[in-house]
Amino acid sequence: MKILMVTSEAAPFAKAGGLADAVSALARALSRAGHDVRILMPRYYGIDRVSLARLEGPLAVPTAWGEAWTAVYTSALPASCVPVYFLDHEASFGRDGIYGDKTEPDYADNPRRFALLSRSAFALCRKLAWQPDIFHAHDWPSALVPVYLRHLERGGFPLSASVLSIHNLGYQGVYGKDRYPELGLPWELFHGAGFEYYERVNLLKAGIAQADALATVSPSYAREIQTPELGAGLDGLLRHRSADLVGILNGVDVEDWDPATDRLIPAHYDASDLSGKAACKRALQRAFGLAEDDRLPVFGMVSRLADQKGIAELFGPGYGAVPAVCADMAVQVVVQGAGEKWCEAELVSLSARYPNFRARIGYNEATAHLIEAGADFFLMPSRYEPCGLNQMYSLRYGTLPIVRRTGGLADTVENYDERTSSGTGFMFDDLTPRSIYDTVGWATWAWYNRPAHILEMRRRAMARDFSWERPAAEYAKLYARALTRRGA
Ligand code: ADP
Repeated sequence: MKILMVTSEAAPFAKAGGLADAVSALARALSRAGHDVRILMPRYYGIDRVSLARLEGPLAVPTAWGEAWTAVYTSALPASCVPVYFLDHEASFGRDGIYGDKTEPDYADNPRRFALLSRSAFALCRKLAWQPDIFHAHDWPSALVPVYLRHLERGGFPLSASVLSIHNLGYQGVYGKDRYPELGLPWELFHGAGFEYYERVNLLKAGIAQADALATVSPSYAREIQTPELGAGLDGLLRHRSADLVGILNGVDVEDWDPATDRLIPAHYDASDLSGKAACKRALQRAFGLAEDDRLPVFGMVSRLADQKGIAELFGPGYGAVPAVCADMAVQVVVQGAGEKWCEAELVSLSARYPNFRARIGYNEATAHLIEAGADFFLMPSRYEPCGLNQMYSLRYGTLPIVRRTGGLADTVENYDERTSSGTGFMFDDLTPRSIYDTVGWATWAWYNRPAHILEMRRRAMARDFSWERPAAEYAKLYARALTRRGA
């Protein structure tokens, strides 16, 4: 099949979150499976033109404000033969930020910028004389692609279908109604294509309404976003489109995250010989200034410090679970994180108050790997989690996750059962400090009283397959389904 991914992010070129990794890894896996897959994304300032080739001639893209004259640069996605096209348009993308910057977190002209990106997909394909079977859009920035295909570009692409992936329903691209004309669409489509959202414009909503098929990043999240609790205002529409929506669990980069070869950890190991993990644990304790004692279980966490991640229930001053855990239990806790200021301050303060608690503030890839390898358990009590990567890394590293039963966490972790010693982690349902405290207590109990179970769970967790081959095959099936639904 011929597939064009239209995206605001793709690793390693431009990355704000997991979307970038997922797009690139999926493209690589589809390409390995024999599909002709290509990526279209903006050329932000961070992407140096010097290392890129340039498509000959300009690319004229029709927009609400007349034709935009753009240039297209090309390169290949590293470790693949996937072509990447970079849309170059100084007024739209000639800046450092993807969506915004420090002074302007959401650029005022984002509707125009991403309308241009989405519309350029069709101009580019014409220029290349390449008719994709599938236009694959990702999240709100390219959610206009299905709308344009159906309402403006159908004539030129009669055989193409559109697929929209929802990586995080929390971001929808919602703007004042007065911004609608910037999308270059007639007013009858404001209601007709599903843009209208409480008298505002919602880009993701229109994409969901107009795409031939929809995907999200885990089966549980696919169900949850159809409920009022986690539907972020779009649950009704998602229920309406239920038959066309599938949850496909993301894979992870199994080369970067492999304890047998990881270059960022001090010792290597696999399920048959875990002695390297013990060495990593000592290195972790040393690096964080904790007592080097292999008898104590180490609970690790690597996270954005955002409400979504359960940080209030973990660290909220005066009620979070972690201070009580550190005071009451023979355990050690290490955290690497950056985000909300109150939480960063609290982590620093806890590090000073408890000898068995240490945190590092900031984003640090090497420390993230060291924690995954050296910790015994991994804390991830998310409020919601579309897919989640860290729990999958943890399973691969034999670091048993402690998670709330939600989204991708529910789909990847299997709860411990002390009668049968089955499971790969520890789960709870209610996001409260009490539940976190009790579940950490349960894991600690198992650590001290059921060491054989812990070992068995580790080996089972490390045997799980999270490569991208399976999700890529599921996407190929979804593409085939989208083609049969084309224009329906
Ligand atoms: P989300 O995308 O919601 O932040 P995920 O678990 O899907 O959550 O992905 C988070 C990714 O970011 C993981 O690869 C994790 O290791 C990494 N990460 C998050 N915070 C940090 C940090 N402070 N230092 C290093 N890596 C981090």
